[in-house]
Amino acid sequence: MKNTLVLAVLFSFSFHAVPAGGFEDARPGEDFTRKDRTELLFSTKFQFTPENVPVVTVGVVEDEKEIAFLSEGPLVFMSEGEGGPSVRVGRGRTECIATMDDSRPAVIRYWPALERVPARELGPVREARNRWTQAGLSVNTFEQGSVFGFYGRILDNRRVVVVEDVSFEDRAAAQAHLDELAATHGIDTPELYEEVIRRPDGRVRVRCLGHEATMEFPGMVVVNPSAGKFIRIRNVAFHKLYNEGKREDRSYRGSIIFTADRNGRLAAVNSVDAETLLKGLVPSEIYNDAPMEALKAQAVVARGELFAKLGNRHTADPYMVCADVHCQAYRGMERENERTSLAVEETAGMMAFFKDELVDSVYSSSCGGHSESGANVWQGSNHEYLVGVPDAAGQVKAFARGVTEESVREFIMNPPKDSWCGKSRFGKSAFRWTRTLTDNEIVAGVKKITGTDIGQFKGFEVMGRGVSGRMTRLKVIGTQATVEIAPELRIRQALGSLKSSTFVWNRGNGSVTFTGAGFGHGVGMCQNGAIGMADAGRTYQQILGHYYSGSEVVKIY
Ligand SMILES: [Zn+2]
Ligand SMILES: [Zn+2]
Repeated sequence: MKNTLVLAVLFSFSFHAVPAGGFEDARPGEDFTRKDRTELLFSTKFQFTPENVPVVTVGVVEDEKEIAFLSEGPLVFMSEGEGGPSVRVGRGRTECIATMDDSRPAVIRYWPALERVPARELGPVREARNRWTQAGLSVNTFEQGSVFGFYGRILDNRRVVVVEDVSFEDRAAAQAHLDELAATHGIDTPELYEEVIRRPDGRVRVRCLGHEATMEFPGMVVVNPSAGKFIRIRNVAFHKLYNEGKREDRSYRGSIIFTADRNGRLAAVNSVDAETLLKGLVPSEIYNDAPMEALKAQAVVARGELFAKLGNRHTADPYMVCADVHCQAYRGMERENERTSLAVEETAGMMAFFKDELVDSVYSSSCGGHSESGANVWQGSNHEYLVGVPDAAGQVKAFARGVTEESVREFIMNPPKDSWCGKSRFGKSAFRWTRTLTDNEIVAGVKKITGTDIGQFKGFEVMGRGVSGRMTRLKVIGTQATVEIAPELRIRQALGSLKSSTFVWNRGNGSVTFTGAGFGHGVGMCQNGAIGMADAGRTYQQILGHYYSGSEVVKIY
């Protein structure tokens, strides 16, 4: 499907990071065609294809000095997007290099966020403000997210972010302050809120092979391939955390936008309609040879997850979602597969709803036998449908009398035999695992994540676990300092990127051996469990009803 930048045929409102002293009225989408287009890159206003499929922007490359790209046909460069002036370059294969000049980074202010509350009702927001004021903190609020409608269904993922009324220009200083607050007030999901004071800017320069002239575009340029052709970007870097230094060429459907990233370096953003994007996303997120009902469940959750995130992530970046596991892994069109594309087509426009609410359909690779509650992992995820459940037809015996250090050890060492992810033929190494780290590796990891040098490692103390056994807060004791780490993702990152925070440990001589269950945060759908359920004859609707309790699948476009 060709990605045309037609503006909202339906309607689209945005509340992009408006300080929420009071609620602003929703404004209908403005026509950005002739304005500063970089503003559009930072907004959550939707554009739609002529078929009324929303167009999404994905950050596919950033932090580069130059980006080489090509297409098997001419390329059209548009400084203001569709409808503005355009330059057509090349005939057959066209190869170009984009660079960035006179750039300046974004100015971002970091706020310690205490809590995120759905913005639909005023009551909970007021209560949250009062609670923190009574705890002795001076608070401020921001609003993020967006509200948009499709054929009478309103999708509203807006949240009010309650922050301590103190901001930082330096991210590390803000994080250190937030860590202290989290330890003092027992916050298991500390997160920073990023306020964009000034957007990044720069001049994009493009030089194409066989053409003398260098083209210059202030702020950004939209590049379209000719009909039926694609844009291929050279040397796209893999996720830095897991694949340092690894790169590959990737092709993308839709348009590519070159602009400045938050650091004033060159970024490439793929503007593509949601259904085409999903065909690229789904195969990166699940085994292509998984049973069809599991693939359909994956297509529905990937779609719901995409829409739930818009406006709530990357508020300081020139795109709505990133191409890494942080949002959803996306490696362009090469990964497309007949079976996963069919699963996307057969569920086109479908998402899970709980009552009238779009389900934030988060998922992870393996829950380990019990899923986790959203509230224990992220701010603002305390939804009824995201309460952790046993990943089995019955109960998890080890947790019958609650989650304790003893019951977690029992759960990990003697896994429940009837759990869906345990039965799955995929991901055995995710279900139960062991990993050994030296004391030095632990000290270095803790320093990297918290900025604190604890001296020599002395031990751990578990400060909290969720319903799946996942640790929510961990105390790391050292000879020089003791730190508390939360939430679960930072615990894993500090400990050599452990697969999950459902673990117990044994102290060795200068090392620690971790034994754990599951891979990922464990909230919402367990992907290996979905495969286990599909193998046992369950439909994708049944699978989704299991992981998002009380939800139903609705077609909204
Ligand atoms: Zn992301
Ligand atoms: Zn599971």
